[in-house]
Amino acid sequence: MTATIIDGKKVASLIRAECRDRVRALTRATGKQPGLAVVLVGNDPASAVYVRNKIRACESAGVQSFSYHLPSHTGTATLVDLIEQLNQDANVDGVLVQLPLPPHVDMTQVLEAISPHKDIDGFHLYNVGGLVTGNTVFSPCTPYGVVKLLESQNICIEGQNVVVVGASNIVGKPMALMLMHRNATVAICHAKTRDLAQFTILADILVVAAGQPGLIGAQMVKRGAVVIDVGINRLPDGHITGDVVFDEVKERASHITPVPGGVGPMTVTMLLVNTIDSAERRAGIVPKGLLCGS
Ligand code: NAD
Repeated sequence: MTATIIDGKKVASLIRAECRDRVRALTRATGKQPGLAVVLVGNDPASAVYVRNKIRACESAGVQSFSYHLPSHTGTATLVDLIEQLNQDANVDGVLVQLPLPPHVDMTQVLEAISPHKDIDGFHLYNVGGLVTGNTVFSPCTPYGVVKLLESQNICIEGQNVVVVGASNIVGKPMALMLMHRNATVAICHAKTRDLAQFTILADILVVAAGQPGLIGAQMVKRGAVVIDVGINRLPDGHITGDVVFDEVKERASHITPVPGGVGPMTVTMLLVNTIDSAERRAGIVPKGLLCGS
């Protein structure tokens, strides 16, 4: 068996085209363009690249971006003040604080300062809690992107055995909750899981987000499983690779995402979707975006 390669770039570009249409319709109806505020603290080069990509994606979809680049010595109180201003700003539908923040900043306080109704990353405790009960305002972008990739292939989630490898707050845990709400039977594995393979081999859908290149080989995958590789790892030679040994697992799986070109392009795309959802909601339009649990 050779797996169907799930083309994240293609799915992302279809969703982005839909985003452009939604922005045009919103602007026609209200005279308003959706707006995303992006806050970057310090000079971490990787964060600067992520922020640039997010701003470019906004521009290409007709979403206005407001960029705040603050020096690395910026304190928690200054950041909270800025966020409170953005919460009140009618032109801003989403507020994103690029992580990681410098170590002296109280990240929890900063993230909690964002209005849950502008928290397009879905990291505010209100939205995290909503993810548990199934009525979150915004789903975190990476797991939301994975759900959209599965939907794009008409892969049934209900009743499937799902194993999520990785239990972080931004990927693994929300991923498990989102799939549980779609009636999958979900197991979460992490670095302390004993004998990872005894779990992964049972998965109809295996989502891997551990940040460990080569973690999942073919012998750990059930024949015909759907394998979603969230991992992004830079090898010493500069190449980017996932957590799954793509060449051997593609011979065993029914569907597989490549790295790069799988989940990666979906994350920024879902940020746009969340921002446009927010703008539509604020304009009194019911968003087309999917709410967790729907
Ligand atoms: P993290 O370091 O916060 O969490 C990693 C998780 O994996 C932890 O729960 C840890 O216990 C688990 N883990 C580590 N080693 C393991 C092992 N040997 N066996 C089983 N579990 C193990 O990382 P994160 O932020 O969740 O990101 C995970 C990966 O996904 C990284 O490679 C990251 O770059 C990538 N990522 C990709 C996107 C995207 O858009 N594609 C977005 C976010 C993160």
